Amino acid sequence: MWDRKQGGTTVAKINRIRTFAMALIFIGIFIMYIAIFVFSDSPILMSIAMIIGFLSVISSSLVYLWIGMKSTQTLQVICPNCEKQTKILGRVDACMHCDEPLTLDPKLEGKELDARYNRKNFQQ
Ligand SMILES: [Zn+2]
Repeated sequence: MWDRKQGGTTVAKINRIRTFAMALIFIGIFIMYIAIFVFSDSPILMSIAMIIGFLSVISSSLVYLWIGMKSTQTLQVICPNCEKQTKILGRVDACMHCDEPLTLDPKLEGKELDARYNRKNFQQ
């Protein structure tokens, strides 16, 4: 999940899941749009595309629901960098506003953040 080592910027997990859910909605609408305007001559293709598009939108709603449930398990903290309230999901996460890396574990403070720290059985 942590992509800093791959050269990307750090993004809070909840923000990333929201982006994914948002993308699913657009993909679903796009597929349904194609179903209506491209496959209008073929009822079978149109039905299949409509079902895929519909399922995409439905799964997006489920992802949103899941984020909502996950959000209740997060810890609310004040970001030391931008001083706004943010949420931490797991042991290591990034600030939702400024993407400052945050950790709950004092042992990891100042260390290079790594997705491995989110695994419970990680041996240092
Ligand atoms: Zn921040």
